Amino acid sequence: MYLNALRRIVNFAVNKHAAFNPNNLKYLSTSCINSQLANQKYIESSQAAHPLTILSEEENAFKDTVSRFAKDRIEPRVKAMDDKSEMDKDLVDELFQNGLMGIEVDPKYNGTGANFFTAVLVVEELAKVDPSMSVMCDVHNTLVIPIFTKYANEEQKAKYLPRLTTDTVGSFALSEAESGSDAFALKTTARKDGDHWILNGSKSWITNSEQSGIFIVFANADPSQGYRGISCFVVERGTPGFTISRKEDKLGIRSSSTCPLVFEDCRIPASNLIGTLGHGYKYSIGILNEGRIGIAAQMLGLSEGCFDHAIRYTFERKQFGKRLFDFQGMQHQIAAISTQIEALRLMVYNGARLRDAKLPFIKEAAMAKYFAAEVASNTTSKCVEWLGGVGFTRDYPVEKYYRDAKIGAIYEGTSNIQLNTIAKLLEKEYS
Ligand SMILES: Cc1cc2nc3c(=O)[nH]c(=O)nc-3n(C[C@H](O)[C@H](O)[C@H](O)COP(=O)(O)OP(=O)(O)OC[C@H]3O[C@@H](n4cnc5c(N)ncnc54)[C@H](O)[C@@H]3O)c2cc1C
Repeated sequence: MYLNALRRIVNFAVNKHAAFNPNNLKYLSTSCINSQLANQKYIESSQAAHPLTILSEEENAFKDTVSRFAKDRIEPRVKAMDDKSEMDKDLVDELFQNGLMGIEVDPKYNGTGANFFTAVLVVEELAKVDPSMSVMCDVHNTLVIPIFTKYANEEQKAKYLPRLTTDTVGSFALSEAESGSDAFALKTTARKDGDHWILNGSKSWITNSEQSGIFIVFANADPSQGYRGISCFVVERGTPGFTISRKEDKLGIRSSSTCPLVFEDCRIPASNLIGTLGHGYKYSIGILNEGRIGIAAQMLGLSEGCFDHAIRYTFERKQFGKRLFDFQGMQHQIAAISTQIEALRLMVYNGARLRDAKLPFIKEAAMAKYFAAEVASNTTSKCVEWLGGVGFTRDYPVEKYYRDAKIGAIYEGTSNIQLNTIAKLLEKEYS
């Protein structure tokens, strides 16, 4: 049901060249804006800036469709999945069936053929309902698939992309027990042996690994070269010498699987090297720079979903003969949090628009991810407080958002690492 709707949206975009393009604002202003958008004071001039929160018609339709899918299909199962720390297999299948696992991929590989901004909207909409499903979709679309679309050869694309868009989840394996923030100190090695590479070592904290069939693995093929020896490989589930260990028992995003991986003389074909030998560090940093916008979108959706539950509660609950919302002390807190969420939305959308426009976005992406973790943490903490005692129970969904929010300051570069990046770029800018 949803797939057909999404296909129609994308066909419309492809046929009309309607995907957002900063050089094409005139088209957006005349042909692509429905009456609802027109009512939002769309700027007519082709020279004028495009307001960040105004979506093109196909982006709007995509967002609405994913929102309905999340409400109808995911929401009823969120609590059970969190309680069991298990992702519902049917829902994973439905992500594929609904075209949400190959958002930017060319339709010739069974992809949806939309832009990065659309992927960000999907991650946001899913996170409003379940940050765990959202991160599965995010890692698959913004880390794993771009490794193939940007760096793989035609043969590798033809072999792996149709699987990744149709039924096979992917993982991105960079971190190790001894190398987290200092990711390029990784110890996993790759040794050439005739027509094969032999991998040895282990990875930690790998998202989706319980479900994944395809793993992007970073290993050092020439440790004497330091990080310049790091290369990028694809390893399939079931390869002898490759073990997926027991999943972590986590504070939040509990239904998202996070497992260690072990490689013991794991032999893979030489053709499983992606891109150029020794360029893995460049690929990983390039992809993570973009991926951070995805995590910021996850934290944005999480904040919006939590706020939506909590503000409604303040309209219903009465104390001292008034609604909670009627107390000015409450209104100020609610207004302040809503303002932070709005600022975050602008940062996330701007980062994604810059990336789609092929303009520099690294500082904006790092700022968005850093700020996203702060906003998600503040929002969910306040929402628990606004619900009083029931906010502290598992009967209401806000405590789950509170637990899920913490990861925003940790994965894909901790908040300190985002601040390091921002400071480095500021130093360059000002010196
Ligand atoms: C649920 C989950 C899912 C994950 N998914 C994946 C995945 O799919 N793929 C993958 O490769 N990895 C994944 N990770 C790993 C994640 O990216 C790392 O946990 C993260 O980069 C931090 O590394 P660390 O845990 O080793 O912490 P450390 O690097 O040990 O950091 C500990 C603390 O020290 C601070 N710190 C470290 N260095 C500096 C510095 N230079 N300046 C200032 N402060 C510093 C950090 O900010 C942090 O507060 C995941 C982690 C989790 C928890």
